[in-house]
Amino acid sequence: MTQQQTPAPAKMKIGILTSGGDAQGMNAAVRSVVRTALTLGAEPYAIYEGYQGMIDGGDGIKQFGWDDVGSILHRGGTIIGTFRSKEFREREGRLKAAANLVEHGIDRLVVIGGDGSLSGLDLFRQEWDGLLAELLITGRITQEQADAHPALMIAGLVGSIDNDLVGSDMTIGADTALHRIVSAIDDLASTAASHQRSFVVEVMGRHCGYLALMAAIAGGCDYVLIPENPPADGWEDKMCAELKRGRDAGRRESIVLVAEGAQDRSGNPISAEYVRSTLEEKLHEDARVTILGHVQRGGSPSAYDRWASTWLGHEAVKEVLAVTPESPGNVMAIRGNRVVPTDLMEAIRHTREVPERIAAGDFGGAMELRGGSFTEMDQIFHEMAEPSQVDVASDAKRVAIVHAGGLAPGMNTAARAAVRLGIARGHTMLGINGGFPGLRDGNISELTWEDVEGWTADGGAELGTRRTIPPLEQLYPISRSLEQANVDALIVIGGWNAYQAAYLLYSERDRYPAFKIPIVCIPASIDNNLPGSELAIGTDTALNVIVEAIDRIKLSGSASKRAFVVETMGRYCGYLALMGGLASGAERVYLHEEGIRLAELSHDVDALCESFRQGRRLFLAVRNERASEHYTTDFITRLLEEEGKELFDVRQAILGHVQQGGSPSPFDRLLATRLVSRALNLVDEEFAQGRAHGWYLGLQGAKVEQSPLNHMMEHMDPEFRRPLEQWWLQLIDVNRSVSDDPALFEKA
Ligand code: ADP
Repeated sequence: MTQQQTPAPAKMKIGILTSGGDAQGMNAAVRSVVRTALTLGAEPYAIYEGYQGMIDGGDGIKQFGWDDVGSILHRGGTIIGTFRSKEFREREGRLKAAANLVEHGIDRLVVIGGDGSLSGLDLFRQEWDGLLAELLITGRITQEQADAHPALMIAGLVGSIDNDLVGSDMTIGADTALHRIVSAIDDLASTAASHQRSFVVEVMGRHCGYLALMAAIAGGCDYVLIPENPPADGWEDKMCAELKRGRDAGRRESIVLVAEGAQDRSGNPISAEYVRSTLEEKLHEDARVTILGHVQRGGSPSAYDRWASTWLGHEAVKEVLAVTPESPGNVMAIRGNRVVPTDLMEAIRHTREVPERIAAGDFGGAMELRGGSFTEMDQIFHEMAEPSQVDVASDAKRVAIVHAGGLAPGMNTAARAAVRLGIARGHTMLGINGGFPGLRDGNISELTWEDVEGWTADGGAELGTRRTIPPLEQLYPISRSLEQANVDALIVIGGWNAYQAAYLLYSERDRYPAFKIPIVCIPASIDNNLPGSELAIGTDTALNVIVEAIDRIKLSGSASKRAFVVETMGRYCGYLALMGGLASGAERVYLHEEGIRLAELSHDVDALCESFRQGRRLFLAVRNERASEHYTTDFITRLLEEEGKELFDVRQAILGHVQQGGSPSPFDRLLATRLVSRALNLVDEEFAQGRAHGWYLGLQGAKVEQSPLNHMMEHMDPEFRRPLEQWWLQLIDVNRSVSDDPALFEKA
C-alpha cells in the first residue's frame, strides 16, 4: 500500500494561509502542509492573517521550518491567524498580493478557508497573468520575474465547522464542533432531567443543518429545526404534541435543537426564543434557551480533525506540486475515508445552490444536494425521537439484540437505536442480557421505548457483553432459549468473538432449526479489526481517549527532556496506534502490520540522540500492543534509556482499559444509529422475502454495505484476526512525511 513519494524539484515555494472563520484542525493542516512540503523538498511560507498578509507583505510572509509548526496539533484556532480581508476583494488588493508573492518567488498556494476564501482563491488564480502583466507595465516586477511565474497553482482545503461543502463528507472543524455541541447537550440533559425542564439549544449553521441534525441524533434530542427541511405549517402544535408524547412515555426532559438558519416554509426565521415561548405557552412548562455560540469553534481539535486535516494537508501539497498551469483549481474533499481532488468552483457552485434552493422553496432539492446519508439521518431522527403512536401488533416479529466480544463505547447507543427504531417499525424488541451465556440461560426480556431512555451518552453496555463464543454443547440450550422466546431475528452487536459466535450459529442451522432466522452482525470494537467495515463502533471514542491521554502525557514532560513510549490496544490491528500517533504528533509509530526491525530501532535511537543533542525536548513513540513479540514496549523503553542516558529520560505509558471507557464520541453514536437502522432494514427485507440469511454490516467508503456471513473468513487474516485489506495503511506514508524531519535524518 505504500506509495513512492516523488521529490519536488528544488526551490518550489508554497504559500500557506488560513482565511475566513477559524476552525479546529486548521493547525493540523498547516503543520502537515509545512512538513510535507519540506519532506518533498519544497520551501513552505506561512502567510499571516489570511489574504491580508499577502497584501501587506513584509512580516506577513515568512519562510517556515520544521520546528515552526511543532506542538500545535492540540491547539484550536490557527497559529498563522485568519482574517476577513476586505482589500483582497478588490483587484487593487489582489495586485499587491501578487506583487508580494512574486517577490518571494511563490507561485503555489494552499488556502484553508470557507467557500468565500476559496472562491477568492480561484479568482486570484484566474486573474494571475493579468495581474502580472499590469505589475510588469508599472515596473513593479521584472520580465524575468514574470516569466518565472507564468501561473498560480492552487489547492484548497475547506475549513468550516458547518460542514457545508457539497461534495465533501466532512470539512475541517465540523467533527470538533459536534463534540462541543454533543457534550453541551449531555450536560444540559442531566440538569434538565432533574427539573423536568425543556431546553432550546441554538447551534451554528446559517445554511446548513448538519451540526443541528447530527447533534440531535447523537444527543438523543426530541426535535430539530434545520434550514434545508423546514417544518410544515402548524409545526408548533405538532412539536408540542410530540414532546408531550415523549414525556408521557417516560422522558424527564425535552431538548429542541435549532440551527441558527432555521426557518419555516415561507422563509420566516425560527429563533430559539420563539421556540421557547411556544413551549411555555402551549405546554405550560419552564423552558430555557442556550445559545452555544463561539464555544463551538473553540477548544482542542478532536482526533478526527487532527488526523483528517493532516491527511488533507499532505494531499494538498502533493496536489499543488503536481498541478500544471493549465489545471483547474481543486479543493481536497473527503469522500468515504478517501481524499479526492475535486473541481473547486463546481463544489462551490453546488454549495451556494443550497441557500438558493431554500430561498426558492425547493427543500427537496436542498436535501438532495446534502446527499443520501443526510436525508437518511433526517428520517432516522424522526423515527427515533417520537414514541410510536400505534400499539405493537400481536403478531409482530420479535427481534432480539445481543452484545458479544470486548466492550466498545457506543454499544448502548446501538441498543437504544435498535429498540426505538425497531418499535417504530412495528417489531417487539428483546434484549439478551449477558451475551451468549445470557442467551443460553434464557436471560431475554422485552425492551420498551422508555427502557432505553438515557442510553445514548453512556459508555459501557447495559445489556452486558461477554467474550465467550459458545462451545458446541451450549448450542442446544441456546436454540431452546431462542425458541422459547419466539425470537424471529437476531442482531449481534460486537467484536470478532461476536462475529464468530454468529457464524457458528449460522453454520449449525441445519442441526438447530431455531438458528434459521435472519442474523445480522454490527461491528462494535475499539480494535477496528472487523471484516467489511472500515470503522467499527467504539474506535473513534477510543482514539479520542488516546489522543487526550497523550496530550496530557506530553504536557507532563514539557518541563524536562523526555522521551515517551505509549502503548495502545488494538490486538494485531494497528489502527489505534497509527491514527493515535498521527493525531498526537508521534515521531514514531510501531505497528504489527509493518513489524519492528532491529536495524530500524537502531537508526531511530541514533536519530533521536542526535535530535536531543540539537535541542529537542520531547519525543513520542506510539506502539501497538502486539507490534512485535520480542521488541516490547518495555524493551523499547529500556533501549532508549540505555542509549539516551545523558541526554533525556524515558517514560512508558500503557494506556490499557481506559481506551474502552468513556462516553461515546458523536461519530460513534451516529455510526451506531446508522448501522442499526440498516440492520433493521435488512431484517425486514429478510422477513418480507421469507429468508433467513446471515449478514454482517459495515461502512465501506461512504456507504453501509452488507456482506454474507458465510463468506466472512475469506476477508480475514486468520492468524492475526484482522481484515486482509485495511484502508488506513495508506496513512503510514502521511505520518512519515510529518514526523520524520528529513534534515535530522541526514545528520543521523
Ligand atoms: P469563509 O471563507 O469562511 O467563507 P468569507 O466569505 O468571509 O469567509 O471569506 C473570507 C475572505 O476570503 C474574505 O474576507 C476575502 O478576503 C476572501 N474572499 C471571499 N470572497 C471573495 C471574493 N469573491 N473575491 C475575493 N476574495 C474573496
